[in-house]
Amino acid sequence: MKCEDESPKPHFVLVPFMAQGHTIPMIDMAHLLAKQGAMVTFITTPANATRIESTIDKARELNLPIHFVPLKLDCAKVGLPEGCENVDKVLGKEQVKSLTDAYSMLHKPLVSYLQAQSNLPSSIISDLCQPWTGDVARELGIPRFMFNGFCAFSSLCRYIIHQEKVFKNVADDNELIILPGFPHCIEISKARSPGNFNSPGFEQFSEKILEEERRADGVVTNSFYELEPLYHEAYQKKIGKKVWSVGPMFLRNTEMSAIAIRGDKATVDQKHCLQWLESMKPGSVLYVSFGSMARTVFSQLKEIALGLEASKRPFLWVIKSDDKVSDTEKLLSEGFEERIRDRGFIIRGWSQQAMILSHPSLGGFMTHCGWNSTIEAVSNGVPMITWPHCAEQFLNEKLIVDILRIGVPVGVQNITSRTMEAHEISIVKRDHIEKAVLKLMGEDKDAKERRMRATELKQKARQAIDGGSSYSNIQQLIEYVTTRK
Ligand code: UDP
Repeated sequence: MKCEDESPKPHFVLVPFMAQGHTIPMIDMAHLLAKQGAMVTFITTPANATRIESTIDKARELNLPIHFVPLKLDCAKVGLPEGCENVDKVLGKEQVKSLTDAYSMLHKPLVSYLQAQSNLPSSIISDLCQPWTGDVARELGIPRFMFNGFCAFSSLCRYIIHQEKVFKNVADDNELIILPGFPHCIEISKARSPGNFNSPGFEQFSEKILEEERRADGVVTNSFYELEPLYHEAYQKKIGKKVWSVGPMFLRNTEMSAIAIRGDKATVDQKHCLQWLESMKPGSVLYVSFGSMARTVFSQLKEIALGLEASKRPFLWVIKSDDKVSDTEKLLSEGFEERIRDRGFIIRGWSQQAMILSHPSLGGFMTHCGWNSTIEAVSNGVPMITWPHCAEQFLNEKLIVDILRIGVPVGVQNITSRTMEAHEISIVKRDHIEKAVLKLMGEDKDAKERRMRATELKQKARQAIDGGSSYSNIQQLIEYVTTRK
């Protein structure tokens, strides 16, 4: 996959973190940059490249100057099984640590690859979780921009938490702490804050992320200025460098065929899914999905099923169970699928989420509040039922419910970890689920106003990418790199 383009276009090297929620927006970024005249080298690995084959083919079909470069990951050296190259393939924190070690070993192969190109790179944009790329950029004498997959609101919280070490002397993970230096009063507990890399064993990695964040030439986010101007300004001021908000990047997809192939291979045929959506009334369907990583245990699946059934609303539910496929089958064999046949559509596996959210039949989204899911809902004017599971998702919930006022909380009490057995206390009960659905999808004044606010944000999101703030930020970023060169 040698780069054959000899033109002196500004050349961006994109290094995503290999988890769906990090890779998908960076693929969108590659398209945005390429469409605005830049050349892009997109770093991947063999197993990940196979999963995004259709995306690679699409870029080729559109004749975009994007070169997908699979670098071999030495899994064996860090004790990972061969082909275990994505966070959604590993279990437990130790394996995540091994995966980050394996990625940092790509330093030399990446430098060698880039030095051999006729059009030398002008800059690297790499994920926050790939801090070793800071050394690569310095070795090549080019700037490194950090891609931060969070919005400005939660980025600011995260930065303050780590910089000020706010939880250092806090013994109780659930104790609420007021964040110092935040633009207004905000209380947050350690258990509900972004801290994936705070666990023992990750100290060095976490320090390196912060160090490289401080050294980065700027930060790129998948948000847009008009959504959160206060937090954008405050975050920029806090880190003392430019924040280029260039989102919602997925809106670069203008064709349905491109929208439907994001991430993994979809479990259900696109036509079949669209036919079902077409058969439902406009604004009537609730989409239920918790992102790419979360797995739902059987006791929780059952509560969701019964809550959705009791709500009597049409729904499209994406089930990713906790690897015990039989659990899902058991649930469905209990007669549930039969009972909801006329108004429920179930996908067991990977859905075409961006396509589904953009359909006129959509009226609500029950989400885990991952940032990509959130921005995809915002861009489509879809109000949300918030069900954060872990990390910064609790902060996103605050943004959605309290600040943007386009969401209804389902009432989560505890974090739900992907690898943790569900405790009874973490299970959200069916009546809470039913209540939240009826509230969101209802016709009272609050529900209507929520919908109106969501529609206004949809317009702002589209304006931002269509010649507005995000569009000019992308242009300025390209110009900045070109002038520096
Ligand atoms: N996604 C999808 N189909 C699925 C699950 C997820 O297309 O079945 C996409 C979704 O549209 C989003 C990303 O995967 O772009 C998930 O990112 P998010 O930040 O919402 O959550 P994460 O997976 O990182 O927890």
